[in-house]
Amino acid sequence: MRWSRFYIPTLKEAPSDAEVVSHKLLTRAGMVRKLTSGIYTYMPLGLRSISKAANIVRQEMDKAGANEVSMPMVQPADLWQESGRWDFYGPELLRIKDRHQRDYCLGPTHEEVITDVVRGEVRSYRQLPVNLYQIQTKFRDEIRPRFGLMRGREFIMKDAYSFDKDQAGLDASYQAMYDAYMAIFSRMALNFRPVEADSGSIGGSFSHEFMVLAETGEDTVVVCQACSYAANIERAEVLCTGDECDGLDTPVEEVSTPGKCTVEDVAAFLDVPQAAIIKTLIFVADGEPVAALVRGDRELNDVKLKNLLHADVLEMATPEQVQKWTEAPVGFAGPVGLKIARIYADNELRLATDWVVGANKGDTHLRHVSLKRDVKLSGFADLRLITEEDVCPKCGGAISLTRGIEVGHVFKLGTKYSEAMNCKYVDEQGKEQTMIMGCYGIGVSRVVASCIEQNHDKDGIKFPPPIAPFEALVLNLDIRTDDVCAKVDEIYELLKSQGVDVLVDDREERPGVKFKDADLIGIPMQLVVGGKGLARGIIEVKDRRTGEKSELPVEGFAEAFA
Ligand code: ATP
Ligand code: MG
Ligand code: MG
Ligand code: MG
Repeated sequence: MRWSRFYIPTLKEAPSDAEVVSHKLLTRAGMVRKLTSGIYTYMPLGLRSISKAANIVRQEMDKAGANEVSMPMVQPADLWQESGRWDFYGPELLRIKDRHQRDYCLGPTHEEVITDVVRGEVRSYRQLPVNLYQIQTKFRDEIRPRFGLMRGREFIMKDAYSFDKDQAGLDASYQAMYDAYMAIFSRMALNFRPVEADSGSIGGSFSHEFMVLAETGEDTVVVCQACSYAANIERAEVLCTGDECDGLDTPVEEVSTPGKCTVEDVAAFLDVPQAAIIKTLIFVADGEPVAALVRGDRELNDVKLKNLLHADVLEMATPEQVQKWTEAPVGFAGPVGLKIARIYADNELRLATDWVVGANKGDTHLRHVSLKRDVKLSGFADLRLITEEDVCPKCGGAISLTRGIEVGHVFKLGTKYSEAMNCKYVDEQGKEQTMIMGCYGIGVSRVVASCIEQNHDKDGIKFPPPIAPFEALVLNLDIRTDDVCAKVDEIYELLKSQGVDVLVDDREERPGVKFKDADLIGIPMQLVVGGKGLARGIIEVKDRRTGEKSELPVEGFAEAFA
């Protein structure tokens, strides 16, 4: 590929709304252009990176026995009504009407559609297991799209869905996907780790997230060095902290609860905008909110540090239990129920041991939270978020908190969708049974952004070869000199013949401009060919990632690359 004929509109300045480095560099390197909030055009260079990531995903999914399909992006409301999610999904679901006033949505995920496909086709246990996947555009009307490709409204996801005849089958399908994800993110040369996670609004009982470790990550990951336990702090239970009820002897005051508070109360209590509140568990004393466990966005996390408490959670209540205890009105989804073991304040154990339950509406809109059981609390005035120092884990290892970007998520769904949508098969005994499902997502466009978060310097991107748009860049410093051009062509052909993905900078630009752009777009190997070098019989080679420069003799060049 020749740069003069390949459209790479690099920029000196980053857009003013770009907060994180990947957003700045993706734009400056001419890889993406914003159309409107959270919606981007993938430019030629950006699309190449995304395609490289997608191909790694595709190869590993195929290897794991999944089959590629492509499902429609527009989905009829009926299916979502059948699964029960039409009312529960909340405003992230973009709803549209056709000319006959029929309801549709733009797919944020495809459980309903795939279940509809499989229930119409798969009848017998002999046809199971089935695992179908696609790499496709998703739409989620995110409350705060930001960080460029990291949290878009329109983005590319790989989503896979497994159907099994029994729990053992699901376990095997889940493990195969988990292993495939390990292979995928390793091949992409990302610094990542799998962590235990909540199942969120997709539902289901068991899940792992794959986190790319980066300061700009929106998630907090709790890691125990000694026992290799790692979890999203949303699930944070910090489960490896030891004795279940150490705190029971601590004197506590009885505080009577139940109370109800509105999102306005919570916002006022925390002194944050209402829109920032996503998921909250409020502790109420004497009718007043006294502390809150909040999952908000980034700014709110900082606020949370001032206000909050951290509780060690022993056990999650089932959604059914919570629904019953809170008497949450119909339409409430995502109930939370936590068995609190300990609450810390000021390094001191201030404790509660009882069920604390709440319910919130939808995924993003909190209407109210009610506490049904009495909670024993004391000294909440200065409650705050737990820090690394607060924990002395039972297993003897140190706990650390680190930031992560969720690039993948694997769920055991069980029969949530197959039950609601009547997705059945006939077993060996001729009896009708419900299929058992799993679902598995990877944010393909987010992967490229996360890769840049981990691989950059002040001059630009430092792509690892697997998701670099090209593997090598040949810089022609003297496009008007015939022997330089001839040498460039020779190198270009040689690399191509060896299967190297190569771009030649043959633009009419000064060397300074070429060097700057080369560092900005971050292609791993730079080969510099110029009249001065050729006169000395050398080509300069730079490894963009290490900055290491070396000289290769022109003569032995072909052999060096053989
Ligand atoms: P998040 O917690 O970041 O909102 P999620 O848990 O809602 O993500 P899933 O439903 O698990 O996302 O979707 C599977 C994958 O799709 C995620 O692991 C993530 O990599 C990617 N993804 C989700 N939302 C976005 C988005 N708005 N922009 C880009 N990628 C996304
Ligand atoms: Mg989300
Ligand atoms: Mg998530
Ligand atoms: Mg997720």
